[in-house]
Amino acid sequence: MNIQNLSVLDEEHICPSCKTKMSCCEVPPVHVGDGLGWGSEVLFICLNDDCPTFRNGWDKVDVNYGHKASFRDMQLPGSTEQNVMMVASKDAFTGSIVDPEQMREQNERNIKEKEAVAALDTCVQDNDISPVMTLILDEAADNSGRLRAISLLKEFNDLSCIDAIRNHTFNKTDIEQKCKLVISQMLKDNYKKECPYCAELIKAQAKKCMHCNADF
Ligand SMILES: [Zn+2]
Ligand SMILES: [Zn+2]
Repeated sequence: MNIQNLSVLDEEHICPSCKTKMSCCEVPPVHVGDGLGWGSEVLFICLNDDCPTFRNGWDKVDVNYGHKASFRDMQLPGSTEQNVMMVASKDAFTGSIVDPEQMREQNERNIKEKEAVAALDTCVQDNDISPVMTLILDEAADNSGRLRAISLLKEFNDLSCIDAIRNHTFNKTDIEQKCKLVISQMLKDNYKKECPYCAELIKAQAKKCMHCNADF
């Protein structure tokens, strides 16, 4: 989830029914056709199980609608208008509580990814490998950007990027395989190889490693 308006994360909402702090929750996915769009990315919901709204809601729903559900107090960001929403269980929304710190980090990552993707067009002529490396090493980045970054990697012919890639844990094997291919091509183009014992770069034709003295 990517929140456009981060200032909502600083908001504090107090439940009008039980006076405890309401939780910031992701808006559940709704179909536009349901007419339930809240026009907001998050909602503040009172998740206190002792809140009178929730405790007394079960009977109210049973009497009025004849099914098992209750209500939670709810407020929209930037508003203290009192609302309730129906919940089918006590756990509804507990899985969608937003952690502001995590959300800020995620947002920063998203922005970094966007900037890196935008910089791919000019990074070779600017001789700036950083957007390429940012995308290659970002497991959360979109595949299309990462694949473009890998295809540009060779253009830099920068062997110092190898360590960062070798030391990175890839979750996507296709990305990892493509990186490995580019690395071996770059090594070949530069008449280099990696020592199988210490992993330092040495001449392709070396019979002995100048770093760890291993013989091949
Ligand atoms: Zn409450
Ligand atoms: Zn070695």
